Amino acid sequence: MRHTTKQPRANRTITIDFQNEATYFQLLGDRKAFLECVLAFILSIGFQLTHKTTCRGGGCLTRHSHYARLRLGGITIWRLQCTMCHAVFTVLPHFILRYRSMRPEVARDALLATHGGLSLEWCAAICHISPMALYRLICALGHQSVVTVLTRCRLPLPVYFLAAGKHSKCLADKVYLPTIVRGRVLWHLGYITEASAVAFTQSYGEFQRAASQQDPSYRVKGVLTDGFDSTTKSMRTLFPGARLGTCLRHALLKLPKKLVAIASPVRQTLRTQFHTLLYRARQRKGLRVFALGQRLRHFADHVARTAGTANGERVRRWFQEKKAGWYTVLADPQMPVTSTLLDQAHNALERKLFAMKGFHHPGGSQQAFLTGLAHLYNLVPYQRRAQHAGQCGVEVEGGRVPTPDWMLNLQILTSGGFQ
Ligand SMILES: [Zn+2]
Repeated sequence: MRHTTKQPRANRTITIDFQNEATYFQLLGDRKAFLECVLAFILSIGFQLTHKTTCRGGGCLTRHSHYARLRLGGITIWRLQCTMCHAVFTVLPHFILRYRSMRPEVARDALLATHGGLSLEWCAAICHISPMALYRLICALGHQSVVTVLTRCRLPLPVYFLAAGKHSKCLADKVYLPTIVRGRVLWHLGYITEASAVAFTQSYGEFQRAASQQDPSYRVKGVLTDGFDSTTKSMRTLFPGARLGTCLRHALLKLPKKLVAIASPVRQTLRTQFHTLLYRARQRKGLRVFALGQRLRHFADHVARTAGTANGERVRRWFQEKKAGWYTVLADPQMPVTSTLLDQAHNALERKLFAMKGFHHPGGSQQAFLTGLAHLYNLVPYQRRAQHAGQCGVEVEGGRVPTPDWMLNLQILTSGGFQ
């Protein structure tokens, strides 16, 4: 017998804001008004429906659409069909979460508490749900890719970005979270159990594939990395034309560790001088690459004179190893200079993962869970006293979210039926 590979059913669920529940139940009895309301909402958020690839239906359902009713927890759900390609869309009203009995307002509070760093157990306790239900909700959100959600918000694919792997732990095992950040937005948050270049390439490759699907001509111009060997190698493999730089702030933090067995004021003075050197190199623009090479040589000589030849030699070798990455940062004005925003993202995630040790088990859906957390990171607005209070990361970076309500945005953006 021949087996035909079954195509996974396309998720064409769409979340529609009916403003309030009463409106929804009223509209259920009026097919024409229902369709009009759905179409008006889709038009208002500027999205299109994902028809079948062959469909040239103009991205809209017509009034002649076929419909059917299903029952979900006692609530009638409508399905609409495109008359051209016969794609079926399941219309979820805003007060229903896909496959979940949890109400969105409960989910909203629990997710906000999770995002704020409270453990799943505590979030669940204050919202009267089970920790597992919250975990599954985050995983469900994480089934939609970050690249899809961000491009739906009309953010351009990042031409320059930060890439670094965060070390974490799954019980006693070391794990790594390869991360791509552009400004205040996470474009990729992977999960791998080994630090090899192959594993990193595979994880970052998921981002590369998703991005190329959105735009086949997508090219990366510059990446600021942590200087970690596997990160650098994977970036070279996946984005061959990209310039790879290393973080200048990290260079500054590293210098004191290269200076051994000297009095602390001497070390402090050298660090300050190195800071001035990098700062001036950045100011010089056109001349700065040449100037940096010369100044690094002079600085290593200066270290040898003031802190001994052993320290001078160590610093010289370190410069040799790192300077290409620093040149790259200085040679391209658009290149990110420091990885501060990526470090902030990692610190925020670290707090959550630490608080979730109980769920951080080897058999869990780590990748989906982390992607869910990435969506929260990108879409939950900053709180009252923050620099960008009221805006989410996507908005700060110039993206557009469908509605002023972050929870509704999360529901709409992670649903499968919109384009
Ligand atoms: Zn169609």
